[in-house]
Amino acid sequence: MILPERVRERARELAGDLPAYVYDLAGLDAHAAAVRPALADVEVYYAVKANPDAALLRTLAPHVDGFEVSSGGEAAHVRAVLPGARLAFGGPGKTDAELAVPVHRVHVESPGELRRLLATGRPADVLLRVNLDVSVDGASLAMGGGATPFGMDPGGVAECLELLRRQKQVRWHGFHAHLASGLDAPELLRLAGAVLDFARGHGAREVNVGGGMAVPYRRPDERFDWDAYGKGLTALRSPGETLRVEPGRALTAYCGWYLTRVLDVKRVHGEVFAVVTGGTHHLRTPVAKGHDQPFAVLPTGEGPGAEDEPVTLVGQLCTPKDVLARRVVTTVRPGDVVVFGMAGAYAWTISHHDFLMHPKPGFHYLR
Ligand SMILES: *Cc1c(COP(=O)(O)O)cnc(C)c1O
Repeated sequence: MILPERVRERARELAGDLPAYVYDLAGLDAHAAAVRPALADVEVYYAVKANPDAALLRTLAPHVDGFEVSSGGEAAHVRAVLPGARLAFGGPGKTDAELAVPVHRVHVESPGELRRLLATGRPADVLLRVNLDVSVDGASLAMGGGATPFGMDPGGVAECLELLRRQKQVRWHGFHAHLASGLDAPELLRLAGAVLDFARGHGAREVNVGGGMAVPYRRPDERFDWDAYGKGLTALRSPGETLRVEPGRALTAYCGWYLTRVLDVKRVHGEVFAVVTGGTHHLRTPVAKGHDQPFAVLPTGEGPGAEDEPVTLVGQLCTPKDVLARRVVTTVRPGDVVVFGMAGAYAWTISHHDFLMHPKPGFHYLR
């Protein structure tokens, strides 16, 4: 894993004050600045649930057209950080209070939700979230392509269109789809083509084809092919159509680093364990996704440790599930700093912070 020099430098400075998250805002700015032109006329909304950190939102704001929020809490947070930002409100299980939040687009999840939205009597601009019966092979998470609680099948869409025809309060603009996560550009383009065909069949002029761009944790130096994806979407888009994507993970995963210090290196029944400060209550991503979190060791420690051999990196929690990386060949000593990469999305905010009541990590920003 390539560790940028500025992150390495900050890790050395923070060695006595770990665990900590370091967000590389300069790196995020450069990354987002490259994604934007690759997508040409396709609109980009950042999926806030990947990481709602205010500094990240401010860094992304000049490079995106809006933000996709999935709760009233996220909507209020983005409004407070970026008062003028355009919002799309998605997610299953919106309460009546959430349906009344004024936003640029509401992504309607079901006929029942649309009935409740209509019952509020408030004006709204909506896309219908569709779950098409298409194969999503190779996905790390599937939100569509079969029976799931997300969006609606063509029968549900027909029911919604009928409800919408009979009134003027709620304006229908088109369709939203977020069928799967962890797909490469050709596979996402295939799904986008299917969604666009469906949308055009219903006369829609606006289509949001969702997020889900692949972030391969086993190949930390690889990036999603935004150029190929942007070219493909541009070829799919007809003049006058609004086409939108809403990436989360692939925008912010790479700017986050979780830094810990090795407390102990021990051999138990022939296996080597390095126990670090913090753990999966700060960075739950490797447990949630079932991978080894990529890492680099800064040799700041001393004493007997492990030498170029398989080591399992565990945290401070009293559970065998507190594993950050399993049997990865490395050299590590007590006192070394371990820098975990790809910790900028679905990391801190999906973690169970209060389990065992260890101190929270510090948060630091590289500008
Ligand atoms: C989570 C989510 C996204 C973002 O997905 P990534 O895999 O992080 O790109 C986009 N749209 C919807 C509706 C989502 O639920």
